[in-house]
Order: sequence, then C-alpha cells, then structure tokens
Amino acid sequence: MTNKFIEISEVGPRDGLQNIKQIMPLEVKKAWVSAEASAGVPEIEVGSFVPPNILPQLADTAELVAHARNIPGLCVAALVPNLIGAENAIRSGVHKITIPLSASETHSLKNVNRTHAQMIDEIKNIVALIKTIPEVDRPKFEGGISTAFGCTLEGKIKTTKILELAIALMDAGCDEVGLSDTTGYATPSHVVKLVKAVKAEVGDNNLTSLHIHNTRGLGLANVVAALDHGITTFDASLGGIGGCPFAPGASGNIVTEDLAFMLDSMGYDTGIDLKTLMKVRKIISNALPDEPLYGFTPDAGLPKGYPNAYRD
Ligand code: ZN
Repeated sequence: MTNKFIEISEVGPRDGLQNIKQIMPLEVKKAWVSAEASAGVPEIEVGSFVPPNILPQLADTAELVAHARNIPGLCVAALVPNLIGAENAIRSGVHKITIPLSASETHSLKNVNRTHAQMIDEIKNIVALIKTIPEVDRPKFEGGISTAFGCTLEGKIKTTKILELAIALMDAGCDEVGLSDTTGYATPSHVVKLVKAVKAEVGDNNLTSLHIHNTRGLGLANVVAALDHGITTFDASLGGIGGCPFAPGASGNIVTEDLAFMLDSMGYDTGIDLKTLMKVRKIISNALPDEPLYGFTPDAGLPKGYPNAYRD
C-alpha cells in the first residue's frame, strides 16, 4: 500500500521575503528554488506580481518564474493582487495563480483599496482572461480567503461571511478556494469548524489547501487537525522566515522542515528528502545573515534511526 500523498507548498520566496526588508538577489532566489525542488518539494510560490514600488523584494518574480519553469515536475505558483498582476503572471508562464481575498473588508480596503464586491468583479475579469488561453495552457486559479481565522483590525470574522465569500469565489469561476490564517489566529478546533463548513458549501474537492502561520505556536497542531478533515496541501516556509511586520518576534509561516518531518513520521508521503531539504537553509542564512531561521527539527537534528525507525 502506498502512503497518502500530502503536498507541501513552499511559500518562503513570496511570504517570507515580502516581510524582510533586505532584498535577496535573484541568483540566490534561483539557487534556493532549485535546491528545494531537488529536495523533492513539489510546489513553490516564487513571488507576487505586485508593483515593484510596493514590494521591491519581489520585483524579479517574472525572472524567477522563468527559471523555475525549467525545473522538471515543479509546480510554479505566484500570488496576484489584481487583473494587471494576473496578466503579468500569465505572461511569465506560471502554473498556478492565487488571488487573496481578505475576509475582513476593513483589511481589504486598507490592503488593496477594494471592497469585497469590487474584488469579486476583478476576479471575474481574471477568470475571463484565463478562459482566452487554450485549455491545456491555463494556469490553475485559486481564490485564497485571507484573514479567514480573524483579523488584526476586525477581530473574529463570522463563519457566515467566510461561506458567503467562498461561494462567491467559486461562482466567479475560481478552480478552488483556500483558507489563509494570515494573522496566526487559528486554533485546531477553529480549523476543523471552518474547513468542515466551507467544504460543505463548496464541495470536498474545492477546498484542499491551508495557509498557516505559526505566530502563536499552533501551526503544526492546526495541520494535524486539518489532515483529519481532508486538507491535502499545506503552505510552509523554509526556516519559517518572514514573520509579521506588525508582531515583533512572531515567527512566520509554519516551518517547512518541521512540517515535512511531522508528515513523514506520521506515515504520509511528501516526496521530500529531509536531509537534502535541511541543507537548503544554508542558502538563506548565507544571503540573509541577520534573519532568524526557525525550526525545531533543524536545530535538534534528525532522531537516531530516522527515517526507518520512525515509520513503523
Ligand atoms: Zn501568509
């Protein structure tokens, strides 16, 4: 019997780097992406198609996509905030596009200066654009509901609001929806409640991914809760880099290395070779020596007898 495959989507080059002031040179980014793909990471979100004056750290996303597309078998993903971003993403040749829709309208207005209705209109325009591409070349298009577990401005977001947005995203023509714990507010019980509720509305196959931050140390606990409820893709960042600029000391996404170790030890297949993966950290620490790298497994080392003793 083969083990169930759980996909780890590396988002460090996007979510991590956008929260770090220092700009990582393109050549280093290329080396990072290549090294992680060689370690078996199946999907990497390499950047975001936003104007360079807003996020200069990600200004070379198109070049990085061009590089990553040459890596056999790798799914190359990028974030877009609007139609212009989607046009640029499509031109670059990404395999997957995610657009964040903030569940908190206050956050949406502050972040992208758009109401929910305006965002849904923009998403419809992106779907129309994607439909002009021959079917075999179309990127996958995900609507990611950000601040789904709570917002630093609005606090808790009502489940009914999340469901309403999930339905609106599917109706607008997204291939699937995702849930993002942008603020690190999620807890295991909240994850279960929301995943079940959204799946019940949009269908089991249309919510398969979760974007989790480890701000309050509950990242992996949230993964375990979600695994039991049909989530099969988890975003994570190598060394948990990034953090949140509004919460000093708070770590960023869940740590790719710890997530890979946990899934592996639970008997899931991630396709990742952990020893090779852990060596990739060097690329980041050499380029960003002042950035803290997180991760319990890399700090402690792999247990004696790993992996065989850990799989029985
Ligand atoms: Zn994030």
